[in-house]
Amino acid sequence: MSKILIRGAQVLGGEAQDVLIDGETIAEVGTNLSAEGAEVIDAAGRVLLPGLVDLHTHLREPGREDSETVLTGTRAAASGGYTAVFAMANTFPVADTAGVVEQVYRLGQEHGYCDVQPIGAVTVGLEGKQLAELGAMHESAAGVKVFSDDGKCVHDAVIMRRALEYVKAFGGVVAQHAQEPRLTEGAQMNEGVVSAELGLGGWPAVAEESIIARDVLLAEHVGSRVHICHLSTAGSVEIVRWAKSRGIDVTAEVTPHHLLLTDEMVRSYNPVYKVNPPLRTERDVMALREALADGTIDIVATDHAPHPHEDKDCEWAAAAMGMVGLETALAVVQQTMVETGLLDWAGVAERMSFAPARIGRLDNHGRPVSAGEPANLTLVDTSYRGVVDPAHFASRSRNTPYEGRELPGRVTHTFLRGRATVVDGKLA
Ligand SMILES: [Zn+2]
Repeated sequence: MSKILIRGAQVLGGEAQDVLIDGETIAEVGTNLSAEGAEVIDAAGRVLLPGLVDLHTHLREPGREDSETVLTGTRAAASGGYTAVFAMANTFPVADTAGVVEQVYRLGQEHGYCDVQPIGAVTVGLEGKQLAELGAMHESAAGVKVFSDDGKCVHDAVIMRRALEYVKAFGGVVAQHAQEPRLTEGAQMNEGVVSAELGLGGWPAVAEESIIARDVLLAEHVGSRVHICHLSTAGSVEIVRWAKSRGIDVTAEVTPHHLLLTDEMVRSYNPVYKVNPPLRTERDVMALREALADGTIDIVATDHAPHPHEDKDCEWAAAAMGMVGLETALAVVQQTMVETGLLDWAGVAERMSFAPARIGRLDNHGRPVSAGEPANLTLVDTSYRGVVDPAHFASRSRNTPYEGRELPGRVTHTFLRGRATVVDGKLA
């Protein structure tokens, strides 16, 4: 493999430095490094980050290849600056056996755009009744350490307790989709002023908060680790903050769309804004930003949820829930967190690379940008301004809420173990 010299990049937003990649690793970081025998990328003015890691991606393969595949989803991930994604288990068949998780893992390896770490289902068929083969999935070639019934809540407290006890043996984590099912029957959007005016079924904040409260207490009781998926309300933030202050081993994620969009968007009746959990109020959005800034919320995760045109381009009540997010996540974080002064680029690296890799126990990602480390890197032109055009997406689906919206920043290069997956903003 050849040498690549990234010249004059602001590493994690700091001082300009040169980074020399030799083969699969970072050989040297410094100033005025020799370019001898190396391809040179002039990165003056750009920010160099560790390759991003997404703890919450829906790749849809197997079973819904009309919306996304491991190939198209990982190409979208690379375009967005990611070098690793965790693939959610709600596929068809469900990823509840060693066979399915190994299949997804191998497809990621074969395609080579980013590493795919499968998430295993907590319960058989996501039905919430019987624990899946957590041990067998962990022992498999995929080495599963994160388990989730995402899309559905593990609502039975006894099942949740058993799952937390089980994964504790090998340092695993249960990632909970916090949604009390009885409180959200028929729910179409956030319960509040807007839902009352529009006459749409309301999704109360307490449906999320009550499960988070229960699960942090269960995690404390059994001494295990719990991760809260796509936290979306100000009240959820308060519960996680309390749990952390008490020493409970809880981590939490927020999606880019919950950092930017509110339930006011639903007035358009455009199903592109229909998502689970629903878009909340301005007050919630501001609380989520503050919590991400102060570390109460550990990471940003995309909940990239591709859907084909026919599942989204229909009336609100019939539409599927979810949005694509891999290709716009960093731009939304730049706008909502960096350009508001809440977070610097080192903070972005922590929340979009270091911490998600740590939570998912992915050893070779989320590593420092220093000599001897794997060359998983993302180069960002932060001065770029552009309008989002989903026609240019690598994802197979187009259900983005940002079409026609100006967002800052552009990933110009992504490197996976020293190999460029994105060059000058285009897939390699
Ligand atoms: Zn979910």
